[in-house]
Amino acid sequence: MTIGLADDTLLRQQCLIDGQWVGAAGDPVRNPADGSTVARVPRFNRTQAQDAIAAAQRAFETWSQALATERASLLRRWADLITANVKDLARIMTAEQGKPLAEAQGEILAAAGYIQFYAEEARRIGGEMRAAHRSDSRIMVSYQPTGVVGAITPWNFPAGMVARKVGPALAAGCTVVLKPAPETPLTALALAYLGQCAGLPAGVLNVVTGDAASIGEALFASPLVRFIGFTGSTATGKQLMRQAAEGVKRLGLELGGHAAFIVLPDADLEAAVEGALAAKFRNMGQTCVAANRLWIHAQVHDRFVTAFAEKVRSLKVGPGTQDGVQQGPLINERALDKVDRHVRDACAKGATRVTGGERHPLGGTYYQPTVLTRVSDDMEIAQEETFGPVAGISQFERVEEVIERVNASRYGLAAYVWGRDIGQVLRVAERLQCGMVGINSVALGTELAPIGGVKESGFGREGSHHGILEYCDMKYTLIGGLPAH
Ligand code: NAP
Repeated sequence: MTIGLADDTLLRQQCLIDGQWVGAAGDPVRNPADGSTVARVPRFNRTQAQDAIAAAQRAFETWSQALATERASLLRRWADLITANVKDLARIMTAEQGKPLAEAQGEILAAAGYIQFYAEEARRIGGEMRAAHRSDSRIMVSYQPTGVVGAITPWNFPAGMVARKVGPALAAGCTVVLKPAPETPLTALALAYLGQCAGLPAGVLNVVTGDAASIGEALFASPLVRFIGFTGSTATGKQLMRQAAEGVKRLGLELGGHAAFIVLPDADLEAAVEGALAAKFRNMGQTCVAANRLWIHAQVHDRFVTAFAEKVRSLKVGPGTQDGVQQGPLINERALDKVDRHVRDACAKGATRVTGGERHPLGGTYYQPTVLTRVSDDMEIAQEETFGPVAGISQFERVEEVIERVNASRYGLAAYVWGRDIGQVLRVAERLQCGMVGINSVALGTELAPIGGVKESGFGREGSHHGILEYCDMKYTLIGGLPAH
């Protein structure tokens, strides 16, 4: 069933609280392609967040008790509606986020995939019987839904980050208060609207837009909220950890990354170049797993750079709605300034501009797809995530040295290793301090695998059967008084 989403949800200036669409004076949502106002969303605060938490708690009483098969069938219906409305949802996403339509469609389908997967996992939450310490006893371990969950999401994957939290939370029997990023609330609201159409009961999924600090405070202050799933920057993640301490609240933190892309001398260079292009330029480099620093072995460095730069030069830049466009605008001026700063800093410290390196002639927040070589550790680009279309390349001779320098980063989200000697590649992968490694592949994102980081990239996992257990409390029950053997 397709539902004229663009007419229905986009212009309503409302949030979903306790099954009701509630309106208020709003903040503009801008189209990064031209700066125009796409729509407005309510500027809510603590009061509405508290209403949403109370509604989620009421809904939890019944939702957590529903049969897993009932939750599963509602989630499946929701996933089906998302899939059926992929075109409208992608248009909404491109309008507020800027990514090319084809990428937006891919993200929407992936989000539906997460919800579909967790509809299936809802029926597979098991438990254990363990060897007991007494002959008249048994030890039972079970998993129970944690309670009301707060979900705080960023703008770079406006559907994916929502589905990766809300899918497993609802499947486990939790209810959710979602605060989407102010840049991209419309995709989240449209998804929630489809959830309502699928039959999610009132209060099971609530969406509150507005003042992050006061909505966040309400979530952290409420004893009813038992878990907060957050994706965003490491700086915000640290602040949320401090806030969580007061109520000893459990957290899942998917934070910043600084992925290394390592090409060994025996790698299939053509495949590595294609991989680097995807790992660096998807979503205009605004992904947490973006290849921030490319380490290319000296034996193949020049050949790699020549082939890679040629591909980068041919990337088509423009509004995400235009046919064939591969690079849209960056999300906002702040993002553009950061990219510009990283490039200038690198060039001032000795990096070589192979292509790009300037704001794009299209103006606005467009930036030229850029390749820099001779990147060294003292440059900002080598230390912080650029979150933009800039590939910083360094060459190396000793694998040991690369591993050491990659592991010196405070981040540990993802890395990529390219090579044909699988023994060598595996040895490198095993020694890299990160939550995910792509060997001869950059397609890390899937609902079938546990996504997440180590070190300052956060903790907790989204995706796979591990993802649903984040939203469960493990309970040990001792069953005594059995006839002794
Ligand atoms: P951000 O600035 O940290 O914001 C993320 C979300 O947190 C937004 O909704 C933001 O709302 C909210 N927020 C900020 N301060 C808050 C507070 N005190 N209380 C409650 N909510 C608060 O991150 P971003 O710039 O949107 O996202 C980009 C970052 O996300 C990058 O660092 C990227 O690497 C990371 N990321 C990580 C993963 C992963 O899987 N590890 C995936 C995607 C993205 P406001 O904007 O209104 O403040």
